[in-house]
Amino acid sequence: MTFGHHHHVNCDEVLDRMYVFIDDELEDADCSEIQAHLDECGPCLREADLERLVKALVARSCVEPAPVELRQRVMFSIRQVQLEVAYHRFEIDRPPRGNV
Ligand SMILES: [Zn+2]
Repeated sequence: MTFGHHHHVNCDEVLDRMYVFIDDELEDADCSEIQAHLDECGPCLREADLERLVKALVARSCVEPAPVELRQRVMFSIRQVQLEVAYHRFEIDRPPRGNV
């Protein structure tokens, strides 16, 4: 009968802790909170997938620690995807590219 049960973590919090979550360095309680949020929140789930993808890509392309340059290149292309997602999500007008 309490309302407290339905605790929602908000997206900002999830995105904030995403990196730690992906690295499996969260406490179990926090971890399941994030997981529960991802189950319900498509955009955050996509972010999580992207982060995992970067991690996997970097890990696969180099057994040794990824060179900073490679990591930056991967992160850069991920950023672009995230921007696309963000524009879509918030329905922001894209910055004009050339004359339209
Ligand atoms: Zn969310």
